[in-house]
Amino acid sequence: MRCQICRGKASVEVRQHHAAFCPNCFVEYFLKQIRRNIQAHKMFSPTEPLLLVVSGGKDSLSLWDALLRLGYNVTALHLDLGIPGYSDRSRETCKSFAAQRGAELRIVSVDEEFGLSIPELARKSRRVPCAVCGRVKRYLFNRYAVEGGFTTVVTGHNLDDEVSALLGNLLHWQTGYLARQHPHLPSTHPKLAKRVKPLYTLTERECLAYALIQRIPFLAEECPHAEGATTILYKEALNHIEEASPGTKLAFMKGFLKHKDLFKAAEEEVKLKECALCGQVTTEDVCAMCRLRERIGARVKISKRG
Ligand code: SF4
Ligand code: ZN
Repeated sequence: MRCQICRGKASVEVRQHHAAFCPNCFVEYFLKQIRRNIQAHKMFSPTEPLLLVVSGGKDSLSLWDALLRLGYNVTALHLDLGIPGYSDRSRETCKSFAAQRGAELRIVSVDEEFGLSIPELARKSRRVPCAVCGRVKRYLFNRYAVEGGFTTVVTGHNLDDEVSALLGNLLHWQTGYLARQHPHLPSTHPKLAKRVKPLYTLTERECLAYALIQRIPFLAEECPHAEGATTILYKEALNHIEEASPGTKLAFMKGFLKHKDLFKAAEEEVKLKECALCGQVTTEDVCAMCRLRERIGARVKISKRG
């Protein structure tokens, strides 16, 4: 197998493009895809202050590495979820990457913000950890970006993440979610940072190859709460299809973006306002995070009295 750029020995096969690359040319290809996605969807300019969310996994650390190499103005944010064992290892992985590259990393702890970790918040609110975690992440990432003067929240969602979400939304005809699914969600309020996903055309396998070639010290372990998630089932189903017909995932994603207007009617006219308690953007008088906090606070008082 020969590299399609330099004709040297190829070691990475990119089946979705029927291509193969040597390690150096693969790195060039990966960076070019990211730059192209950023420009094609007008995600951000070269000087804009970006807040990149990093978990310590291969996707977010590969994106961090790529944005630094491409010369973007990027600061990373790691959210310590307080999940025993896993969160310590995630945080240390991010710290070691930042130290290795001399890159800027900020760490926010859910426990310090709310007085409770994600598993404790889930237990007290009687919800599954991922539901609480998703809400906390959206809230804190946006708040941190707006308060820190960052225009954009950048996340490491890859093609596999995006198509599995797309499949889930289609299977359940979540037309509201379909109307909002896009690699670039612009800001619609001064207190709402725009959200972008520059890796949305790159597969999990490609991110792994980039991380290995660049010797990125990523955490291979998944969050323990991810086990059994339906998104994993959708990813496996899509992997079977991709195996038999390479390029299906990318065509699925691109076709959706091309026909996205079909779901325009489901786009709700939302009037954004500021939460009466914390001042963050919400569609209600009090934001979902403050309502959750209030609910948990009430339960604690009752149990203390009891
Ligand atoms: Fe949060 Fe873990 Fe669930 Fe992901 S899998 S949403 S990190 S609790
Ligand atoms: Zn609030």
